[in-house]
Amino acid sequence: MQVRIVGAGLSGAVMARELAQAGHRVTVTEARGHVAGNCHTERCAQTGVMEHRYGPHIFHTDDAGVWAYVNRFATFRPYRHQVRATHEGRVYALPVTLLTINQFFGTAMRPDEARAFVASQAETIAEPRNFEEQALSMVGSRLYAAFFEGYTRKQWGRDPRDLPAALLKRLPLRFNYDDNYFFHRFQGIPEAGYTAMVEAILDHPGIDVHLDAAFVPGDDPRADHLVWTGPLDAWFGHRLGRLGYRTLDFERFTTQGDWQGCAVMNHPDPEVPHTRITEHKHFAPWESHEGSVLYRETSREAGPDDIPYYPVRLAGEKALLAEYEALAAAETGVTFLGRLGTYRYLDMDVTIREALDAAGARLAG
Ligand SMILES: Cc1cc2nc3c(=O)[nH]c(=O)nc-3n(C[C@H](O)[C@H](O)[C@H](O)COP(=O)(O)OP(=O)(O)OC[C@H]3O[C@@H](n4cnc5c(N)ncnc54)[C@H](O)[C@@H]3O)c2cc1C
Repeated sequence: MQVRIVGAGLSGAVMARELAQAGHRVTVTEARGHVAGNCHTERCAQTGVMEHRYGPHIFHTDDAGVWAYVNRFATFRPYRHQVRATHEGRVYALPVTLLTINQFFGTAMRPDEARAFVASQAETIAEPRNFEEQALSMVGSRLYAAFFEGYTRKQWGRDPRDLPAALLKRLPLRFNYDDNYFFHRFQGIPEAGYTAMVEAILDHPGIDVHLDAAFVPGDDPRADHLVWTGPLDAWFGHRLGRLGYRTLDFERFTTQGDWQGCAVMNHPDPEVPHTRITEHKHFAPWESHEGSVLYRETSREAGPDDIPYYPVRLAGEKALLAEYEALAAAETGVTFLGRLGTYRYLDMDVTIREALDAAGARLAG
């Protein structure tokens, strides 16, 4: 079978590898000048720092199969993700832990005391109808205003009262001093970067990769099957309208030494335009560099020519999505895959799992 795969991100690469290993001929077409999609990493020629060009990526998963899969193609180094927040000129631990609570309220509470104290601050709202009510019912107004309100407003460009309660799923507080950002069993970062890992996935005699080659639907009538990992609405020429995305602007700057002392510093205050600053050498703590590369990150509504980062998925988008999904279901010979092809936020491990499962289904069918 001749398969055309559009997009050389993790979705396209994993799918390509599985199909090629099963004996199919695969052509991968990628619009950008590099593989790995939004996980792309590249070493800065000036400082030697490995940069995460589309925002920082930490691999974390509970899926032992996916962990074994990525370890076939890359050497992973242990990495423990910690985040800090600067609020009104002071630095706090994130996510909100017992340390944050004690720093913020100037106390020395033990876990049970802090739990009772936060419960006394929380507002009684039987059925929270939006993000703000959900947060107020969980953490109360002071922690909400300091760490959640401004950040959410900047990240989503919307009043938190217009965002769904489900955006704040679990209790965003920890009544201990564990500031490890992720709970997953496996966590790490590939020593040589994600791009080298994706290149290794694509390194198979049955796979041809074409870079700088934007694919237009209908371009390859000879392929027996096509896998589309580009935006779902783009496949249909946006004929029903555009699915909304947030995009990110990265203001890159370099400096000497250690600029902020940690990988990610959030800036939740509303008067600060950016949401966070990332210092990329801290994503490779096993390396040592004199110079440093940082990205100041701001979020805004994506225009037609911007990179789509986060799907908005509010009520209007969900209705439009349902219409596009109906069109996609009626399409023959095409698999829609990945974060753009299915219009969802997907972590890398879920992306890989879904690509492996989609390849399995194709090969079985
Ligand atoms: C800021 C940010 C931080 C993140 N951090 C993490 C993290 O810490 N941990 C984690 O697990 N996940 C993280 N993710 C999620 C991660 O980026 C995704 O899981 C992953 O990128 C999904 O891979 P994909 O192949 O589906 O999509 P993509 O990486 O977007 O790849 C799609 C590819 O298709 C190409 N393409 C699109 N249209 C066309 C066309 N018409 N012709 C040719 N090529 C086309 C694009 O250029 C792109 O290269 C983060 C995401 C963002 C936005």
